Amino acid sequence: MNSFADIFELHSWDETKASIYAKTSRDVEQALSADKRTLEDFKALISPAAAPYLEQMAQISQRLTLKRFGKVIQMYVPLYLSNECNNICTYCGFSYDNKVKRKTLTPMEIMQEVAVIKDMGYDHVLLVTGEANQTVHVDYFKKVLDLIRPHFAQISMEVQPLDLEDYQQLTPYGLNTVLVYQETYHQEDYKKHHPKGKKSNFQYRLETPDRLGQAGIHKMGLGVLIGLEDWRTDSFFTALHLSYLEKKYWQSKYSLSFPRLRPFSGGLEPKVEMSDRELVQLICAYRLFNQEVELSISTRESPNFRNNIIKLGITAISAGSKTNPGGYSVERESLEQFEISDERSPRQIARVIAAQGYEAVWKDWDNSLAT
Ligand code: SF4
Repeated sequence: MNSFADIFELHSWDETKASIYAKTSRDVEQALSADKRTLEDFKALISPAAAPYLEQMAQISQRLTLKRFGKVIQMYVPLYLSNECNNICTYCGFSYDNKVKRKTLTPMEIMQEVAVIKDMGYDHVLLVTGEANQTVHVDYFKKVLDLIRPHFAQISMEVQPLDLEDYQQLTPYGLNTVLVYQETYHQEDYKKHHPKGKKSNFQYRLETPDRLGQAGIHKMGLGVLIGLEDWRTDSFFTALHLSYLEKKYWQSKYSLSFPRLRPFSGGLEPKVEMSDRELVQLICAYRLFNQEVELSISTRESPNFRNNIIKLGITAISAGSKTNPGGYSVERESLEQFEISDERSPRQIARVIAAQGYEAVWKDWDNSLAT
């Protein structure tokens, strides 16, 4: 097997979807009682048949998470460097066809944003850009990493997929984690949502985690954008992808996110709605399936939902996030990538975490450990 694409080809979307919806309460009970859960068990746990078992799933998820991660929640915050983008993505405020003012932060502006982020208490930052290869390229990333490395223990990146050599070049600059979401594993729908730009290459995106594994990245993040397609089927493919990567690139760590489509300027309505209960079901199913993976929740979700999910399997949470370049201090009113749902400050979130007997941790890795 050269890449995940070889495994992906063996799975039909329609057959996978049908097999998830055919799962019965017996399959769910079998999955709940298993010691080590298979991908078929995972299908049962995300199926409609598992809905009445949510309480039981939540209890097991909580126990497994406590055993592996303890009572800690990692804190992180995004730093949007640029909203320039050559891609058309139907669900994003930065899409090329969305007529908004474009901005890429200068080194001085980046440091202004960093000052605010440090003031909030953060030691872990997630760098985010659109895909504009003329301005936001590997040399730009190197400069940014050089600039901010002294200020953070952990630097993650969510930018366009890069070539293997690019990742190999960026790792010595302090890049620790790369997030690359497939958005949807439904190939036809993927084409509809990405009609223009490099992102329309489904295959290149699908094989990006392989390149990250080959580059020896410390941690990689996977996920889909929930709302584009049937979330159960997309989540099965995410779990399949994760299983493949963990076996092949066992030195790397993994995290999963489950962003639900949020309103944005010129917005797309979700094709498929996912209720809060269903999102809890998915989070618990991931935990029951995989005890090592980190599970991350962003400010896309409501305060009430985030308060209640802390104990159920989540290991990382963002707070105080701005989704526009310069949003913390430089240009507060510029267009956001999507609307934030939870506006509470990092300190407020840390207090919510503490009230539940957990500890907010502001870094879980120090790049000095890699040298
Ligand atoms: S999702 Fe990313 S690639 Fe697509 S338009 Fe938005 S910023 Fe650009």
